[in-house]
Amino acid sequence: MIKISELRSDFPILSQKFNSKPLVYFDNAATTQKPKAVIERIVKYYSEENANVHRGVYKLSTIATDCYENSREVIREFINAQKTCEIIFTRGTTESINLVATSLYFSGILQENDEIIISEMEHHANIVPWQICCKNLKIKVLPFDGNGILQVEKLESLISTKTKLIAVTNASNTFGIINPIEQIIQIAKKHNILTLVDGAQIVPHHKVDMQKLDSDFFVFSGHKIYAPTGIGILYGKEEILNQMQPYHGGGEMIDKVTFEKTTFNSLPHKFEAGTPNISGAIALAEAIKYLEENHFPKLIEYEENLTKYLQNRLSEIDDIVIYGNSLDKLPVFSFNIKGIHHYDLGTLLDSQGIAVRTGNHCTQTIMQHFGIPGTLRVSLSFYNTTQEIDFFIKKLKTDIELLRG
Ligand SMILES: *Cc1c(COP(=O)(O)O)cnc(C)c1O
Repeated sequence: MIKISELRSDFPILSQKFNSKPLVYFDNAATTQKPKAVIERIVKYYSEENANVHRGVYKLSTIATDCYENSREVIREFINAQKTCEIIFTRGTTESINLVATSLYFSGILQENDEIIISEMEHHANIVPWQICCKNLKIKVLPFDGNGILQVEKLESLISTKTKLIAVTNASNTFGIINPIEQIIQIAKKHNILTLVDGAQIVPHHKVDMQKLDSDFFVFSGHKIYAPTGIGILYGKEEILNQMQPYHGGGEMIDKVTFEKTTFNSLPHKFEAGTPNISGAIALAEAIKYLEENHFPKLIEYEENLTKYLQNRLSEIDDIVIYGNSLDKLPVFSFNIKGIHHYDLGTLLDSQGIAVRTGNHCTQTIMQHFGIPGTLRVSLSFYNTTQEIDFFIKKLKTDIELLRG
């Protein structure tokens, strides 16, 4: 059995008050809170280990370099990638996708008039980079049905000889539904098409396995898995990364520089120009260690029970419309109450210390599908409790009554 009260005491912010009320933090799909171990690891790095990496021969620099490179290995093991050089540090999911899009175009792997397929439920981070990288790239969209379930049976009909890549989220940050990503990758492989999986939402709630998944690219953000902002991961298969041009130029990513020509460093450094977010990388490894020391599979099981509990309690609410209905869900629920603006409800909940998300959740194409301006979104972590859910449901009911007048 895991002890949630003990886990909660690892997260200093959870004992803070906001609007004079204890914090009920239900916006974990936007970012997660950080355990003391992660916060203290950053302090330790700057107090005892700080130097630039891969630069000096002096002792302190080798300590910093070892910490940074060991973190890469921790992350490789966590996602079961085959090789450490397949782990590239970036600023987050957004930068990882921009890196892949731009670099595939620079390398001629993506060309004008090529096609890619994304899904209708992508985060803006998996739409806009493809529109920017190449002017005449044709983006085809795999639709979802009224329940938010991807219509994978339509995928084959979208594929043509010009299709170069399929980029789909493993789980939607708005619906919380886990997509049949293995099936999508299988179809892509059959047609020799590259795949990119947006893992930002799945990684904090599920064990992922790169060798099993067999996607060419997989991306996620540190801050959604209990690490700081400003650090993220691009996993790419060595073979494809080796064919790709660097995304940024500068120090660290080079082999030999002259004014006429520059040759590039080997993987993973080729894609890490400039001084990286060293403390962020180290703190990300620490966050992963924290999850593992606290029996990640048990935390996942607890979250699955919380998900079912919240799903049941939400179904008690009159006039609720939930966007994304499936049994295979992360603890992420988007909904509206008929006749009430989500923003008004969100504001009332905030006054009671309950932090929920309002708006379009960086998925305007989902809002367009349903013809709505936005939703409320509740997203949980293992540090949330059924008591918090009960308190939230109670307040939700009285706030709805209040707004109905
Ligand atoms: C949060 C999120 C992103 C963007 O992540 P950043 O950390 O803002 O770069 C992309 N996709 C999904 C599914 C997300 O949840």
